Amino acid sequence: MDLKFISAIGLNPQEFLLLMKDTKPVLRSGVPPGNSKNIESLCKEFGLYFLKKRFDDSMDKQFYISKSRGLPRKAYEAERQENKKEIGRLLGYPECCVNSFLNYRTKSNSKIPMIIHTFSKTKGKPSFYTNNIFNSNGRSSNINQKLLRNKERLKRHNHFLISHIPCSYNCKKSIEIGTRTLRLMKQEMPEFASEVLSSLRRVFIVFDEFEFVALRGKINKNEVRYSDPIVVNLESKTEKALKQGNRIVRGKDKIEIFKDKTPIYTIKRKDENHGVVMDFT
Ligand SMILES: [Zn+2]
Repeated sequence: MDLKFISAIGLNPQEFLLLMKDTKPVLRSGVPPGNSKNIESLCKEFGLYFLKKRFDDSMDKQFYISKSRGLPRKAYEAERQENKKEIGRLLGYPECCVNSFLNYRTKSNSKIPMIIHTFSKTKGKPSFYTNNIFNSNGRSSNINQKLLRNKERLKRHNHFLISHIPCSYNCKKSIEIGTRTLRLMKQEMPEFASEVLSSLRRVFIVFDEFEFVALRGKINKNEVRYSDPIVVNLESKTEKALKQGNRIVRGKDKIEIFKDKTPIYTIKRKDENHGVVMDFT
């Protein structure tokens, strides 16, 4: 399977693998500019059924691709009727995660960023298998699009092992899917697998939905020793300090950045949901 080609025509290679290996009944994807014909011929080559449809006027067209003849239409109809549980099932998402997503969307707690909400539901250490922080699937609807276009994020937008929003960062079903995805990726595209892992197995400090830093680091109590920060949508002063520093001390009201013992910069935390440290190592 030429996964580089699959990626080049705008499909997500790990999702395509899951579809081909019967873990995902339907693959849903936007229609990448100029690649519609390529995707159609790919489907023909692999004997896949597809439907290309717009389900809502505000959206671009989407591809629904499946190994089963009836499923692309079923997925499209479910989406059009806003039958979210059915669409979740067809896309291979765990029921616990679909329910928790719907709950979040209908409740007032949706003012809390989705990542922070998911983290608050996590008991114990978060699992990198469930880390979907670089991926915007399902998290981007109320977001300023400029944040999504951040270069560092765009470079890694397909760095994930699950394509849904987990109900927590150690949801068992999501870890199962992530484990399977990683195993398949290691077989079929080992280089991409290690690239993805090096983005996901990090300490994240999250300020808002698409405003965070991902560090190669180790946490010891309130301190993170780090290198190689990936800075996404933080103020330039903060970004500069993070790149100069190698140590962070987190407090209740502030996050301090140090270079060894020298303090460089302090970030004030607006509240408990701002500057949340998540250990995905
Ligand atoms: Zn779940």
